[in-house]
Amino acid sequence: MIDAVLVTGGAGYVGSHTVRRLLEDHRRVVVLDDLSTGHREVITLFERVYGPEQFCFEHVSLLDHSALSSVFERHHFCGILDFAARTLVGESQDEPYRYFENNVIAFQNLLDVGRGLPIVKSSTAATYGEPGAEHIPLKENYQQKCIADGDFENSQLMPAAVDFGTLLGWYEQHIAFELCDEDIALLKIPTNVYGITKMMDERMLLHAEQQTGGRYVVLRYFNAAGADSSRLIGEDHDPETHLIPIVLQVALGKREKITVFGDDYATPDGTAVRDYISVVELADAHIKSLDMLLAGGQSATYNLGREQGVSVREILEAAREVTGHDIPEVIGSRRRGDPATLIADASRIQRDMGWGAGETLHETLESAYHWHRLHPHGYRVVQEERFNPFWNRWVNIASHRADRPWRGETQPMENSDDMAYDPECYLCPGNTRAAGDVNPDYKGVWTFENDFPTLVLDAYQTQAQLGPYLSRTSRGVCEVVVYAPNHSRRLSTLSLDAFVQVIDAWAEIYDRLGKVPEIVYPLIFENRGMVMGNSQPHPHGQVYAYCEIPGLVVKPQLAMFESHREKTGRCFVCDANRVEAEDGRRILINRPHVLAYVPFAAQFPYDVIVVPKAHAASLLDLNGEERRDLSAGLRDVLGGLDGLFAAPYHYTLALMQAPTDGVDRGYHMQVHITSLLRGPGLRKHVVGADIFGNLINPSDPDMTAEEIRWAMRKVKHHDPQINADKRR
Ligand code: UDP
Repeated sequence: MIDAVLVTGGAGYVGSHTVRRLLEDHRRVVVLDDLSTGHREVITLFERVYGPEQFCFEHVSLLDHSALSSVFERHHFCGILDFAARTLVGESQDEPYRYFENNVIAFQNLLDVGRGLPIVKSSTAATYGEPGAEHIPLKENYQQKCIADGDFENSQLMPAAVDFGTLLGWYEQHIAFELCDEDIALLKIPTNVYGITKMMDERMLLHAEQQTGGRYVVLRYFNAAGADSSRLIGEDHDPETHLIPIVLQVALGKREKITVFGDDYATPDGTAVRDYISVVELADAHIKSLDMLLAGGQSATYNLGREQGVSVREILEAAREVTGHDIPEVIGSRRRGDPATLIADASRIQRDMGWGAGETLHETLESAYHWHRLHPHGYRVVQEERFNPFWNRWVNIASHRADRPWRGETQPMENSDDMAYDPECYLCPGNTRAAGDVNPDYKGVWTFENDFPTLVLDAYQTQAQLGPYLSRTSRGVCEVVVYAPNHSRRLSTLSLDAFVQVIDAWAEIYDRLGKVPEIVYPLIFENRGMVMGNSQPHPHGQVYAYCEIPGLVVKPQLAMFESHREKTGRCFVCDANRVEAEDGRRILINRPHVLAYVPFAAQFPYDVIVVPKAHAASLLDLNGEERRDLSAGLRDVLGGLDGLFAAPYHYTLALMQAPTDGVDRGYHMQVHITSLLRGPGLRKHVVGADIFGNLINPSDPDMTAEEIRWAMRKVKHHDPQINADKRR
């Protein structure tokens, strides 16, 4: 197995973004985090989406030397990305020992146990202290120049709970690497305890390299901001002290106003100037640095910034533009230890590794805004009731239940083989069906009347009342639609052309049966897999064409859509599509004509809706291009689900189209795919509260969507059939 990357502090802000990038690059990651400031929800997301082959979480503190050693016994690492640290300047002044312990002693343990491994260390611009204007933009050798110029004879540490001498005393007492004169000179430059502890770490790396040969990269961040494009991970600190999250919280009405800490700095508008850099680009720099070390590169220290100074006032203005909200501000006094201007010169990493910041400030603010808008409470396990109007019912989303121990039955997932023809199959060409008919030697899609129909047109007449009970004639038509002669195919493995043929056949069936005067609702569906009560793997679906509009889903949907139209004048499905697209977290596919998503109020874990973007009552309203787009969308989703379950997926799929009773309701068709699976081999049992109360969905729909998206990407990566279609 390929060696994993160890990421300490991987449940935190920059750490989690880097972990996601690594996982997206198909790398193995072990996150070590004590969750003192990191988020368990991030870990759950990674566990769920990437699975144990790619991701492992070690809930361990770096201060626990023996637990740390056993982590290194359990895994083989190729290198370390070290994010674990406390990072609040004000807190570091008040609780210096906590910072010394967490940032310095803990790091010594890591260096000790991870002896000689390549390490990328997250450091900070706080190591630069308060540089004069003539040194901006800052180069990495700023401190060395200060020493050479004899600039800082005394420590620049601002008032704190201890003095500089005490910090040095702690170092000498606890840390094995001896401090040289240069170390002490460098430690005098930062103005806060946080910056000093980070400088201690940087120096320890240098000394460790001299002893073990272990190479390192130090990355000094300027101001990290923004969030991952999935909108599932972002910045969530408690307490929040950073400018951008606070500004966005004001924009969202969560805070009344922002206090600008000082407008009397020697800067163009009087407010402090910083260099704000996208967290995603920071993540990228870590991975590039690790790869450089793994390729044999030498130790180095780099700045990470956009190389652009932006004042607090400019951030406020940009945030007003991005959010469209008013952001009330008041001017307060300067914050202790805040320098006037910090701007990076990031040319060194650009030159050495080709890393450069490409994202604009607006883009960074937008991604941060999406995160804060969609997660107003930060990370949170979803445990709430959501109304699902597609099905007219409330659903209990209880995502913490996904992790509960399961000691019941698991379902074998394999139920298909590679046989193109099965002599025992009653749907293969030329074979005899259960009722005695012989199948023709069909070539493409083939439809026949169900041999055991639930609905028949010549059913006996009945219309009776027995006390509170009623009965009526069960009239209609049941057909079977076989998708292809090849026994081993399924929708997800049909060629795109063959899939379009299925869609055309579904449209023909809907048209033909819809024209039968008695029929008002041709329901087309497919059950696939044992879990869904189907034991016949030959690719096929069914048709139940009713003479009454069925009551379970269609009738309530029609009522719901109608009342929505009355209230708003708009189509319910178009509105749902818009809301899902604006949210973005649950979107699986956004093709030219088709959208697919896990609905906000998914009632089963893997509920998916695939829906034409344009208003279409049925497949008959879709032209050739739109049908092809729908085929591709459905195939991608089903293929992704096969990939997710590492087996042919077990599902039920239904085409919800307009009734054919001639009434124009402005209906908007949808394709629903759902399953009784809640995980590979794990069945969602519909019992108890699910039957007598509300359905319980034990998955957060946002997370499920990410799981399916990742599976779709992986399948696209490997499936030659899909890739062949893409090239056409
Ligand atoms: N800032 C501010 N009001 C706030 C928070 C921050 O004016 O409520 C200013 C802060 O003084 C600094 C800039 O915004 O000049 C960036 O601060 P932040 O805490 O985000 O990052 P830092 O530069 O301290 O690492």
